[in-house]
Amino acid sequence: MDDNNKEGENNMQDCIFCKIIKKEIPSQPVYEDNEILAFKDINPVAPVHILVIPKKHLNSINDLSAQDSEVIGNIFLIIKKLAAELGIADTGYRVVVNTGADGGQQVGHLHYHLIGGKPLGTKIC
Ligand code: 5GP
Ligand code: ZN
Repeated sequence: MDDNNKEGENNMQDCIFCKIIKKEIPSQPVYEDNEILAFKDINPVAPVHILVIPKKHLNSINDLSAQDSEVIGNIFLIIKKLAAELGIADTGYRVVVNTGADGGQQVGHLHYHLIGGKPLGTKIC
């Protein structure tokens, strides 16, 4: 990937997750409504690894404003519902939002990792 493409990741035309929302790139959705999509991570790190995203393109937490608070709240309710449906509510799980370069964010569209189905340990990193 060259520098131009890296910059392109920050606009929604070139955003891989916006393309998934528009069905231009296939995914395995597990939940969808008007404002939120949840789909299986292509490279799962655990038996359950779901990405939950707002359909509105936001690069990261840094782009959030007060008007986004409802969708962010709803994302957590969807995470709760998916955890129950996928059988990990009682065994436990981790929700991760990587942000920016030091945070290890690779895709520039805000996303919540829902990870579980095995013991994840106590280390955050
Ligand atoms: P990040 O490092 O940005 O927090 O996580 C990006 C995640 O998106 C990674 O876990 C990666 O496996 C996943 N991912 C990247 N490209 C695709 C894709 O085209 N489809 C799906 N389903 N997941 C993807
Ligand atoms: Zn996007």
